This record gives sequence, C-alpha cells and structure tokens, in this order.
Amino acid sequence: MSNKTAGEVHKVYAELEHCCGYGLCNQVCPEIYKLNGDGTVYLATDIVSDDLLAAALEGADCCPAQVLKVVTE
Ligand code: SF4
Repeated sequence: MSNKTAGEVHKVYAELEHCCGYGLCNQVCPEIYKLNGDGTVYLATDIVSDDLLAAALEGADCCPAQVLKVVTE
C-alpha cells in the first residue's frame, strides 16, 4: 500500500561541483550515486523510485559536503 499522492515524484539534485569524492553516498545507495574514476559522484538517474527512496535519502544525509538533495515534487 502506498500513501503517495498521485503525480508525486522523488528527485535527486546534486551540486556536483561541490563533491569532494568521499564516496559515502555510493556506499549507501550505489544504485543512484555512482562514482567517476576520480571518486566524484554522478547520478545514474535523477528520478528516485519508491523502493530506493530510503537509501537515496540516507545517502544524501551522509554526504559531508551536502552535495545531494532529495525532494518530492
Ligand atoms: S558523499 Fe558527497 S562528497 Fe562524497 S562522493 Fe557523495 S556527493 Fe560527493
């Protein structure tokens, strides 16, 4: 069962230029937060599916540089 309002979408926004390459987000949610060769992050997708929402939020929370933000629109 879902309490989601119809039409709501969870999205990730990333200020990639502030990424310091700690890689914590990738450890928590590798399905969305991918790492480049230099350790900085890129997004596999900016749309977060319901089953990945908890991990995406946790990954954003643990970023020391506050690069990642998950919002519901
Ligand atoms: S945790 Fe933050 S600083 Fe570290 S790789 Fe992820 S986005 Fe970049």
